[in-house]
Amino acid sequence: MTHFVSARDVCIQDPGWTRRLDLLQYVVLPYQWRILNDLIPGIKSGCIENFRVVAGQSSAKRFGVVFLDSDVYKWIEAVAYLLAQREDEQLEVWADEAISLIGKAQSPDGYLQTYYQAGALDQRWTNLREGHELYCMGHLIEASVAYHMATGKVQLLGIAERCADCIDRTFGPGKKNGCPGHPEVELALVRLYEATGIQRYLDLASWFIDVRGTSKAALDNDGSFAPIFPEMASFGPEYFLNHKPVREQTRATGHAVRAMYLYCAMADLARLGHDASLKHACQVLYEDVVERQMHVTGGIGTAAFGERFTTDYDLAPDTVYAESCASVGLMFLAKRMWNMTMDARVYDVWERALYNTVLSGMGLDGMHFFYVNPLEVTPAFVHANPGYSHVETQRPKWFGVACCPPNIARCLLSLNGALYARDEGNLWVLSHIGSVFHDGDLRGKLVHEGERYRLTVVGPAADIHLRIPEKSELVIGYDTYKEGSYVDLLHKGGTSTFSYVIKPEVCIIRANYRASALAGKRCAMRGHTVYCAESVDNGGIPLSSLRLSEKCMCSEERPPFPDEDPALSFPCSRVVDNLRELYGDAEKEQTEPALIRLVPYRLWGNRGEQEMRVWFDRG
Ligand SMILES: [Zn+2]
Repeated sequence: MTHFVSARDVCIQDPGWTRRLDLLQYVVLPYQWRILNDLIPGIKSGCIENFRVVAGQSSAKRFGVVFLDSDVYKWIEAVAYLLAQREDEQLEVWADEAISLIGKAQSPDGYLQTYYQAGALDQRWTNLREGHELYCMGHLIEASVAYHMATGKVQLLGIAERCADCIDRTFGPGKKNGCPGHPEVELALVRLYEATGIQRYLDLASWFIDVRGTSKAALDNDGSFAPIFPEMASFGPEYFLNHKPVREQTRATGHAVRAMYLYCAMADLARLGHDASLKHACQVLYEDVVERQMHVTGGIGTAAFGERFTTDYDLAPDTVYAESCASVGLMFLAKRMWNMTMDARVYDVWERALYNTVLSGMGLDGMHFFYVNPLEVTPAFVHANPGYSHVETQRPKWFGVACCPPNIARCLLSLNGALYARDEGNLWVLSHIGSVFHDGDLRGKLVHEGERYRLTVVGPAADIHLRIPEKSELVIGYDTYKEGSYVDLLHKGGTSTFSYVIKPEVCIIRANYRASALAGKRCAMRGHTVYCAESVDNGGIPLSSLRLSEKCMCSEERPPFPDEDPALSFPCSRVVDNLRELYGDAEKEQTEPALIRLVPYRLWGNRGEQEMRVWFDRG
């Protein structure tokens, strides 16, 4: 069976990515630890304090949202992936400290959710739709598997197994009939099965997937629970992905992050169980997401109300939600879809989400984050119009609901486990990030300098498959290969070295005409990177006056930040501001030649508040 080369066995050594890993190690993770411990003035998380409350070490009142526990679980998971690649004594000490406290907070029967433990334990498991107990415990399980993989330590794995055993005693055939309003435990139980080999964890994951949508009771139970999110009272079963059995679901609906985590578990179970109907459902749902509901940046989930999918081609660039976590989930799903299909284009989606929305979710200082990722921001409108109340013009330091910052960290730190895949006679290089790796008897190194790559492979003979990234040419010697497939190379055994070049192409992109908000609009991409304009690079003129031409006579310029993709400069036209009134005769509109300067979308918002725009009227 094809498998990914483990995060434990791949170490990233790449000009751009080493810098980002340094930032994550020395800034992001310590900063998040201090926030989770309420050590940064003016920012109240309450996450660690809540565990102290439940462990009897604090007399404070439990604080914050119902799913707050998951923040520290995702942080520990992120630390684990860092420790898999690099040593860091301080981060490991902090993680062990958190794990010890989590163990002290766990109920004797294995239950763990500070929201219910701090005063409402008799109501546990009564509100599966909103209670997030299985969601939080799922993140705990994921963290435990990662931490065990990275450090060999078993304390958190033991805590997670006691949690999973508690869930297993509670749910299943002849026991409680229910599934979580927010999927996560399903994919986590699969990971716990793969880490421990304990079959009943896999069986429980499978049961949670199969019971979903089979009856109203599968989610709502007896209806006696107290509402936690009153605004969700009107949300129907489609929102909670409980409207049909999962094998009959054909459209991505509801909360985008929930959908991604559910589909991830479905893909895992389809792979492990050779389950054709589950695989088919995954393919149908994945295609609905990426072919009809995904923004050009890899952002998903159009509506702010409910952080949800709406309908096909509803892709307005300014009001879009596009939560950072949803694109993290899309990357997790794309990785699993590749394992089922081996389609090179699946990794185009993985890279589209990574290099645009996920990286945009974190500021270059590592201490500011976007939850929402719009493709167009006019600060004056955002500040005045409640319809944009979900939009931030600058990355905040933290959030009351802080799911995104630690999720971005664990996603970026686990990239190394998604770069290479292997089976007995094959090696796939899926995303070209400089790194060293080994997998059993095969080891290798990918050196990345600018557009040049040199892959060295040592070990037994293997067919090597280099994925050709979207909007790029892969060049070996005098041969040029186009996107959408692989270049196949033969490693005859011993040591082989292959040199190649990946040339990203600048392309002007249009959307399907059914996406009415984007009709007549154009945007620019270079390889997997989407570009945007910011006022600071364009003379402060309203960006809506710029028209992007069909012709791609662009020049590449020095980027505003070091070690980043180049800025792009295009000849374009600009509407001359001769219209004093609000409306006027279109025939009298005048334009003049101008230049438009674009930077990678992932860098926006790092130079003060200003206009930003991805899509432009056609020139
Ligand atoms: Zn989030």
